[in-house]
Amino acid sequence: MDKAIYFEKYRALRNEIDDTCDRLSKMHVGKMQCRQGCDSCCEKFSVFPLEFEAIKEVIQSDGTFQVPQQRNFEKFRKSCLFLKDGSCSMYEHRPIICRTQGFPLLYQSGDGTAYELSVCRLNFKEINVDTFHDGNALFMPPFNSRLYLLNQEFVKKFYPKQFKPNTRIGLSELI
Ligand code: SF4
Repeated sequence: MDKAIYFEKYRALRNEIDDTCDRLSKMHVGKMQCRQGCDSCCEKFSVFPLEFEAIKEVIQSDGTFQVPQQRNFEKFRKSCLFLKDGSCSMYEHRPIICRTQGFPLLYQSGDGTAYELSVCRLNFKEINVDTFHDGNALFMPPFNSRLYLLNQEFVKKFYPKQFKPNTRIGLSELI
């Protein structure tokens, strides 16, 4: 398999997550306040090499995409370097972690016996968090496992010496 096939598989997974997020958006309409300018969750994220390269490939082939100019002082800012005037300058190509922000997220506890909930209090300030379950929240473990395994295969095939399966690369390296 060449890299393009891995990128395709990554995008298929990303599309599935987008579809799930669309369904949740409709379910929580009126409560989700995500909008331009509400960007405190736009931190300096890192991603697996597979996701990093898939994004890099698409922004390099997008003739209209303008890579932000990194000025020296921006290296020290806390927010993502792709955040510009309250908007994501690579919105179409943003990674999975950014696509799931704002939704109620469910994870499994370390020993697998309980759910852990991560919820944006700007969106769900009036909701009892006990009302969330895998039918109205984004249950992340299956998606995370699939991404992890796909990346593991990718790294093993193309970067067996450079990267470990859990190596992550900062999005700022795209600049
Ligand atoms: S890539 Fe875009 S959505 Fe993700 S943290 Fe950066 S500015 Fe925010």
